[in-house]
This record gives sequence, structure tokens and C-alpha cells, in this order.
Amino acid sequence: MNRTRIARLSAGLLFLLFSWIAYTQNQGQQAPQLTINKVKDDLYNIEGDGGNVAVLVTGEGVILVDDKFDRDHDAIVSNIKSVTNQPVKYVLSTHHHADHSGGNAMFLPTAEIISTANARTNILEHKQSNAPPGVAPARLVFTQETAVFLGGKEARARHYGRGHTNGDAIIYFPALRTIHTGDLMAGTSPLIDYPGGGSVVEWTKTLDAAMKLDFDTVIPGHGKVTNKAGLLAYRHNVEKLRNRVSGLIREGKGQDDVGKVVMAEYGWAAGSLNMQWSLPGMMTELK
Ligand SMILES: [Zn+2]
Repeated sequence: MNRTRIARLSAGLLFLLFSWIAYTQNQGQQAPQLTINKVKDDLYNIEGDGGNVAVLVTGEGVILVDDKFDRDHDAIVSNIKSVTNQPVKYVLSTHHHADHSGGNAMFLPTAEIISTANARTNILEHKQSNAPPGVAPARLVFTQETAVFLGGKEARARHYGRGHTNGDAIIYFPALRTIHTGDLMAGTSPLIDYPGGGSVVEWTKTLDAAMKLDFDTVIPGHGKVTNKAGLLAYRHNVEKLRNRVSGLIREGKGQDDVGKVVMAEYGWAAGSLNMQWSLPGMMTELK
């Protein structure tokens, strides 16, 4: 077993430990309040807890993008019920993390879940190490692109390359000129999940490829709905982080010193997933 494998394994174990702590701490608590907001025409966004859930309503059923944590299932369903009586037929999954795919097991009996092949593999690998319940893999997978046509509407899912993980999908609603980025845009600073195959070098290339789509509205993985300029600004921020860390490494700075800089300049908290996954991964990738 080489050092990379050991590093990947220990990062994986840390992830499981923190997931388990997060899971157990949430038992017995009320699921956080979710709200559903109209994005455009028949497209809505469910915000609160976990990742943003896009809801495309058609006359033949609902297409979801992501399904938050398993604890959010009932609130997701009741929020959908407030805008349509149509049942959820498809869930297009952006990536394997439990705050985006945690509801999969609850939807699988009645809906088809679709993800990249890599996202499915990532879920299975975590499952073998006793991942928290709720994260079930998709039954249908694709490697490059797929689409769902329902009630005369189209939702397209495409893997543009590595970034947040090695299995990120961007979902495109062509008629609405809107995309859901998954965590390729999330919050203010990128989380690069190196144990899950992420890459800060590939991240900007992946977004550059997606920017070629014709769209004006962006539902990020986390945070408020924005536009193409907002996504471009986020992309530049990823590049700035990469250049900053590359520069520090060129100056001969080690992981501890680089860690202090990203904590101060990017607000990465001690013990956060950014410090566990992104920092050591960047030290290796940008060397
Ligand atoms: Zn994520």
C-alpha cells in the first residue's frame, strides 16, 4: 500500500467519522425548515439544509436535481406538493455527497435516479466502509452526457470534467436557459474533495467548458440563485486560490504555512473539510 493510498484511506476514514458525528448529532432534532422559491416558469429551487434542489414541473411528472439529506425527504415532498400534484419521476444527481444524494434511498422506490458512473462508484466505495444510511447509488449512470425528456420538457446532465469531485454533473434546462452547477459553485470558496477525485487544476477548465452553454440563470450547489457573471466570478476565485497556493509552494512554504494563509484569506476553519481534503490535496497537486 503506497502513501497516496494510505492518505486516501485516512481521508476517507476521517470523512466517515465526521459524517457519522454529523448524522448522530442530527438524530432527534427537527429537520430544518425548507422553502421553495420560483426560479423561472415551471422551475423552482428548494433552499435550506443540504444542497439546493431544483424542481422542474411538467405535465407528466417532476424532475428533481439532487435530494439533500435523507432527513429532508418529507419536507422536500411537501414543498413540491405546494406547487404541483405531479409525482417525482426522476432525480438527476450532481454528485455523491450526502447533502446532495442523501435522499436517494427514499426516492428510489418511486423515481429513477441518474448520476455519473463516478458518482455511483464514490457512493459504493463509501458504503463499503459503513457510510451513514440514506446514500443509495443511482440505478442509471452516464459517463459524458444524458438527458430526460418528460412532458415536452428537457433536462440535460453532463460531466464536463473533474473539479469538486471526479463525478460532478452540471444539469442544464435549455428552454429556461438555466443550469444547476452542483458544488462546482457552492458558497464563497471551493471545497476540493481530493479523496473523491477532485482537482483545483481541472476545476476552472471544467467551468470554462460549461460556460459555453447558452444560459443566464445559475442555481449553485449552495447559496442564492445567481447569473452567468456570478459563476464567472466564482471561477476566477478558484483560479486565484490556485495561483495563491502555487505561489506559496514555489516560495518553499510547507502545508502548515499555506494552511495559515488559506485560513486567514479564505476563511477556512480549523478541522473543516477544506483543511482535511483541499489543503493536503492542493499541496500534492500543485507541487
Ligand atoms: Zn459536495
